[in-house]
Amino acid sequence: MSDCIFCKIINGDFGTEFVYETNSAVVFRDINPKADTHLLVVPRLHVESLNELDDKDLLGELMMTVKAVTKKLGIKSYRTVINTGKESGQEVFHLHIHILAGKINM
Ligand code: AMP
Ligand code: ZN
Repeated sequence: MSDCIFCKIINGDFGTEFVYETNSAVVFRDINPKADTHLLVVPRLHVESLNELDDKDLLGELMMTVKAVTKKLGIKSYRTVINTGKESGQEVFHLHIHILAGKINM
């Protein structure tokens, strides 16, 4: 998707640092953090929202990526949020999982 900001980030267009990545997903810091640590887990595949994702393997991989990146960074306690649809507050229509946590040393 040429006009999707997260596709551009995944493509490396903005030089965004990935704090973690796999074959199917990347993790980077939210540009407008709503917690001391605010990360986004984003599938490399452009999918608008959770409602458009029916691939169980990819869904599982995204949740495993949440576990892997929090483990790597030593984050033991965190909140995950997936906004789905405009009324929920979704602003970027490329599926992503928010990870919200306290301060860490990164
Ligand atoms: P949502 O409201 O669930 O769609 O969340 C979109 C999130 O993407 C917001 O928390 C934004 O701060 C974040 N965001 C938007 N543009 C960028 C960007 N270029 N780099 C990192 N995070 C971004
Ligand atoms: Zn996209």
